[in-house]
Amino acid sequence: ALTTGIVGLPNVGKSTLFNAITQAGAESANYPFCTIDPNVGIVEVPDERLDKLTEMVEPHKTVPTAFEFTDIAGIVEGASKGEGLGNKFLSHIRQVDAISHVVRCFNDDNITHVSGSVDPIRDIEVINLELILADMETVEKRLAKVGKMARQKDKEAMFELEILEKFRDAFENEKPARSVSLTEEQTKFAKGMHLLTMKPVLYAANVSEEEILDADSNPNVQRVREFAKEENSEVIVVCAKIESEIAELEGEEKQEFLDDLGIEESGLDQLIKAAYNLLGLETYFTAGKQEVRAWTIKHGTRAPQAAGVIHTDFERGFIRAEVVSYDDLTEAGSMSVAKEKGKVRLEGKDYVVQDGDVVHFRFNV
Ligand code: GDP
Repeated sequence: ALTTGIVGLPNVGKSTLFNAITQAGAESANYPFCTIDPNVGIVEVPDERLDKLTEMVEPHKTVPTAFEFTDIAGIVEGASKGEGLGNKFLSHIRQVDAISHVVRCFNDDNITHVSGSVDPIRDIEVINLELILADMETVEKRLAKVGKMARQKDKEAMFELEILEKFRDAFENEKPARSVSLTEEQTKFAKGMHLLTMKPVLYAANVSEEEILDADSNPNVQRVREFAKEENSEVIVVCAKIESEIAELEGEEKQEFLDDLGIEESGLDQLIKAAYNLLGLETYFTAGKQEVRAWTIKHGTRAPQAAGVIHTDFERGFIRAEVVSYDDLTEAGSMSVAKEKGKVRLEGKDYVVQDGDVVHFRFNV
């Protein structure tokens, strides 16, 4: 399963946020495929569409979809040279598919900052630099090999050399691999290099309890937004402390607490949604009297593979899918009306399932 890693310097509120994630915790019985590991938190993906479908179908049970956050501890300056948990940290980052980077924007004199003052941009750059240095090592090793072959006019080597040189130039300017513009073909190749700075990133700006309603008056949040904009990354404002309190509540209690605070949507919920998008994940639904349920697929997944997320038998025996878009279904008000209106399509094995599709699979057992 795709996972996003939570990284951050010490004392930025990373553990507090990760605890909120594990506490908000998904019912693991519903997700037998998920990883069981203290460093992995399973989160349910909040989705208003699922609530709407539940109102409409009135099933016995509603199950949201879920995915994983991985807590990646131990980054300090010098990690690429093996400081702290250096190498371990880097190998953990290598295994995640996207990065949620927590930065400290809150001031609190009681909580020391590793570098002595609150400066989120410096913090971001400390971590980015460690990742860039690690990638530089990877690229230089490859350059030594490929360079020779390219000089002998080896076609494949020449193709790779061009990419490697682009990366090296970026790294020399302390820019991440994801900032390098590549052709489609080059991108495909570059993905196989598993560079750390190629992974998509979002920033979680951790603000204090007092600031959560007006976070943009915090100049540090502004600076993180500007920085992120330049690399096309998203920023989510959270207050880790409040999130850990919210995470203990459920349903109406949670809503009341949010209303009391004047918060429309919890920062953690926003973070979960943003991380889900960052991973390129999408949701389709099944909606029956027994169960209304959300399922996760990667963008671009065809119908049989989407069916395989429910059960491998569904993929193997796939015949066709009956599909109606969420919008058409809710506009019709019920599955039978949607059918009468001709909004329910029959799709075959080449159909690419779309985010929001409500699907009924037909299959042979
Ligand atoms: P980590 O080292 O990044 O995992 O940081 P922790 O989550 O352990 O947080 C370090 C300290 O900052 C703890 O004492 C937390 O209670 C405190 N802290 C974390 N988030 C917030 C926050 O949003 N507001 C305030 N005031 N303190 C926070």
